[in-house]
Amino acid sequence: MKETEAALMFDLHSHTTASDGMLTPDALVARAVEQQVDVLAITDHDTVDGVNAAREAIEQASLPLHLVSGVEMSTLWENQEIHIVGLNIDIGHPALTAFLQHQQGLRHQRARDIAARLEKARIPGAWEGALRYAGQGAITRGHFARFLVEDGRANSMADVFRHYLARGKTGYVPAQWCTIEQAIHVIHLAGGQAVIAHPGRYRLSAKWLKRLLAHFSEAGGDAMEIAQCQQAPGERQQLALYARQFSLRASQGSDFHQPCAWIELGRRLALPEGVIPVWQDWAWAKHIKRAV
Ligand code: AMP
Ligand code: MN
Ligand code: MN
Ligand code: MN
Repeated sequence: MKETEAALMFDLHSHTTASDGMLTPDALVARAVEQQVDVLAITDHDTVDGVNAAREAIEQASLPLHLVSGVEMSTLWENQEIHIVGLNIDIGHPALTAFLQHQQGLRHQRARDIAARLEKARIPGAWEGALRYAGQGAITRGHFARFLVEDGRANSMADVFRHYLARGKTGYVPAQWCTIEQAIHVIHLAGGQAVIAHPGRYRLSAKWLKRLLAHFSEAGGDAMEIAQCQQAPGERQQLALYARQFSLRASQGSDFHQPCAWIELGRRLALPEGVIPVWQDWAWAKHIKRAV
């Protein structure tokens, strides 16, 4: 009988309760297996706290899943918040630890400022409310959004962002995130690859997006996300062209935060022809096989 080898399913962008994901690391890896993901990267906002628990859960239950240690860093470029994903990082690297501690400090201070601004706008209790959702995890605007929905200020997360948390709104506080160069540098120090997250989601014109990609590539960045589960028609092809133009490898990821109808781990992720996958040189990935 002829054996056909199915390609591995990579999902290289996801969140847990270590930041603004709704699933614990254990629950996330279990779900990834259910969704037939073979290789999962956990990429929480400015923290790697979910990674060890996920690794232990995989080992304990001998799950057929390979975990990539990752992170999603917030950076500031030309006054825009740009997210840089680090893949295959050494989560114990001292430079990374110090860097993430600094980013967490910025998150904490910004969260305090957001709460103060909301308080002034006669929305009390936002600090406690957001903290209740964040728990021990990295605090994000996502946690404020959940509080504001719970508090009856808006009907959906999208509405909350539109009316309260987006740039220029009552609860928006600009953060002094690190630069793109600094993020790339520390990811490389920790032995990882630096990837521009969801390039289609910054609402940049083609001219500015190309400027961003040129800057990232010149600064030593390795790859860009090309495939997500929800994209405008033609977006993947366009991003693939840019990846070639700027000599960047291609990544794919769901950016899964919680079970919902339209975003799922591993769903609709595939790279167009003609790009080099970010996992091209991952030696271990050549030795694992699909479990199904
Ligand atoms: P932060 O990194 O603290 O600025 O928070 C950004 C996070 O908020 C993102 O990672 C998303 O999870 C969430 N977010 C941003 N914009 C929206 C939106 N329009 N609707 C729902 N969630 C959003
Ligand atoms: Mn998020
Ligand atoms: Mn992001
Ligand atoms: Mn993300």
